[in-house]
Amino acid sequence: MEQFSPVVAHHPPVQAAPGFPPPQMHPARGLSPWGMPIRHRLEIPLLVLSIATTTVAYLVSVALIATGTLDMWVIIVLLAPILLFLARGQMYASQRVNGVKMTPTQFPDGYRMLAEAAARFGMPQVPDGYVILGNGRINAFASGHGFRRYVVVYSDMFEIGGQARDPDALAFIIGHEVGHIAAGHASYWRQLGMFASNYIPVIGSSLSRAQEYTADNHGLCNRPYGAPGAIGVLAAGKYLMGLVGFDEMADRARTERGFFPWLVNVLSSHPVLTWRAAALRDRSRHGRIF
Ligand SMILES: [Zn+2]
Repeated sequence: MEQFSPVVAHHPPVQAAPGFPPPQMHPARGLSPWGMPIRHRLEIPLLVLSIATTTVAYLVSVALIATGTLDMWVIIVLLAPILLFLARGQMYASQRVNGVKMTPTQFPDGYRMLAEAAARFGMPQVPDGYVILGNGRINAFASGHGFRRYVVVYSDMFEIGGQARDPDALAFIIGHEVGHIAAGHASYWRQLGMFASNYIPVIGSSLSRAQEYTADNHGLCNRPYGAPGAIGVLAAGKYLMGLVGFDEMADRARTERGFFPWLVNVLSSHPVLTWRAAALRDRSRHGRIF
């Protein structure tokens, strides 16, 4: 039976990030020994399945080339290492030349949140942070090129503005993105290993959903009180996020059931918002992938 019990227990902070004072109060985070974020339990099994899929696709492509077949997708699979390298380099360069870099003088709160999250997760280097024009879209992502790692936050997400301003939500979201980096999701080799599975329904999207739960665990570890605001802004945007009832969203993970809700989730790169809210609230178990 599913449980959607609200967080009620509080534990004293066990370990403070270097250079930062311990938070006043830690809610129970469950699943996270010593307050550190935990990887979703299905992430590694799904990653192994994805790498196996890519390996088979690669071997089949080599075999087809050897027999003289020259399909377009065969060429794409064989060129994947180069295509991925070029795409990552281009994506990084695009932020470097167009993005507003977070520094102590530009978006200093974002800059500080990046450093805080990196310290909390024990990362040796703070990722670069960029703000780009969102034009109404609510989004953020993390990626890398070479040894460099960076977080991009769309300006609309960064605003989380107006009367509903919620810095905790922004710290959760930046913690989520830095968590992707800390968990290795932005690695070239990992993305190359997942290359073919991205084109196969269910396998690629399921791994992606597991990674999102892992990143949410990081976001929650970084700023526990930011979870309701993060779900609110994703559900209703930067102005109306304060009107979203976190518990009501989480409760509906239990009531909105059936084949089609299940299908929407299975085909999605991110867990559906109701399930995501439920996973953030119930820290006694991993979020549901299927
Ligand atoms: Zn994510």
